[in-house]
Amino acid sequence: MERTWLDGRIALVQGDLTRLQVDAIVNAANASLLGGGGVDGAIHRAAGPELREACRALGGAHTGEAKITPGFRLPARHVIHAVGPVWQGGGAGEDAALASCYRASMRLAAEHGLRSIAFPAISTGAYGFPIKRATPIAVDEVRRALEAGGPVRRAVFCCFSPEDAAAYERVLAVLPA
Ligand code: ADP
Repeated sequence: MERTWLDGRIALVQGDLTRLQVDAIVNAANASLLGGGGVDGAIHRAAGPELREACRALGGAHTGEAKITPGFRLPARHVIHAVGPVWQGGGAGEDAALASCYRASMRLAAEHGLRSIAFPAISTGAYGFPIKRATPIAVDEVRRALEAGGPVRRAVFCCFSPEDAAAYERVLAVLPA
């Protein structure tokens, strides 16, 4: 399933992020950048052990930051590792930190001349960020970055569950097709 908005520049797909052929997929990483559960584990499994070696050299990252590696055995050429906030009730700067993840990822993609990027729903799994509060943040930041110009032509929101896809659709519905 894929739906698009803004002349195809934003797409919504339900499925496995690790299968997407894009210039970069974004990993919902933890601060160690050394792998974990959820989408992080799936990305490391699909990319192979070279990814962990490349990540080790990055020396970790702070919440809201993003760092880039090759994609190794993934169909995606690169992985952008973004560290989302752990949900603490909403009053600890989680919204700003989540926005920073999307902004930093789009900035890195642009700096590397990448044309397409795909995001999971960062922080909304094990990190507990409510999906309905995360989707407007994700869509706003990505849309803003796309509209600012630059090499990134297409951004994909990729989610596993139909419920998460529906949450994105409700936010994306206000955009022009
Ligand atoms: P976080 O620790 O940032 O919350 P998780 O990996 O636990 O990260 O969850 C983030 C989101 O990624 C969740 O919505 C989860 O369902 C989703 N997810 C997990 N595996 C995949 C995958 N292979 N492709 C796309 N989305 C995935």
